[in-house]
Amino acid sequence: MTFTTRFAPSPTGPLHLGHAYSAMLAHDMARGQGGRFLMRIDDLDQSRARAEWEDLILDDLRWLGLTWDGPVRRQSDHFDAYQRAIDSLAQATGAVYPCCCKRRDIEAAASAPQEGVPRFGPDGLIYPGTCRARPYADRTPTDALRYNLAATVGPPSRMPAFTETGPAHAGDHEVTAEHLLTQVGDPILARANMAASYNFAVVIDDAETAITHVIRGEDLYEATYLQRFLQWELGLSPPVYHHHRLIRDAAGKRLAKRDDARAIRTYRAEGATPDDIRRMVGLPPQG
Ligand code: GLU
Repeated sequence: MTFTTRFAPSPTGPLHLGHAYSAMLAHDMARGQGGRFLMRIDDLDQSRARAEWEDLILDDLRWLGLTWDGPVRRQSDHFDAYQRAIDSLAQATGAVYPCCCKRRDIEAAASAPQEGVPRFGPDGLIYPGTCRARPYADRTPTDALRYNLAATVGPPSRMPAFTETGPAHAGDHEVTAEHLLTQVGDPILARANMAASYNFAVVIDDAETAITHVIRGEDLYEATYLQRFLQWELGLSPPVYHHHRLIRDAAGKRLAKRDDARAIRTYRAEGATPDDIRRMVGLPPQG
């Protein structure tokens, strides 16, 4: 299978040093393997995505010397596919249910957690299951859709694993029922008024584009357990994962979209070259 990876920014702000590192690392790894590097725009959240940011991000990536294979894929072109995948999962498992709980409802229901049980998962507070009994067909536009883990997770012999090659967690990792139930909680498959959640859409996108290696920041490592479980439930084969270190500012803080000082366009305006950017994040100059 051809080594295939992707860079998948959300068009909600400028490309900053942390994104650029992620893109260049994935690009270098793909080219080093004679593989494919794909570009995807994660614009699920149409209330925040802007075409201007997308244009600027792509322009900065071209300036950095990156080339991608095939056309740019946009999540907003695949809302129907996400919806169909959720429908079939609901039919096959009976475990998808509408959920009307707002954050404050979940906080109230989860305010007395068992000792030692973490309360936060990739979707925020571990969901206490309030809406689990609601039938799928009852969804209203203001409901989210969740997946009933208690009804679907199995014993270790029937649970998936994934391979990680990044520096912090290299090795094979099992996705256990216990991990999902205590650290993830019933995942959101689609938010209210949205076709899919980030975790669900990414699983479909990576499978549809035959991604063999997901290369992305360490901040998404924990979400990998959930994404691998969703692949398993959908019968999709998993990529290999590589979570890289995060680029931090001088004070050790993670870079945020609003850190305009670390935006690639700011460095460009100040006269930096693409190799200067590569040096700043510890990558070798372009060959
Ligand atoms: N769109 C996500 C982000 O901006 C990345 C998705 C992924 O790499 O899985 O962080």
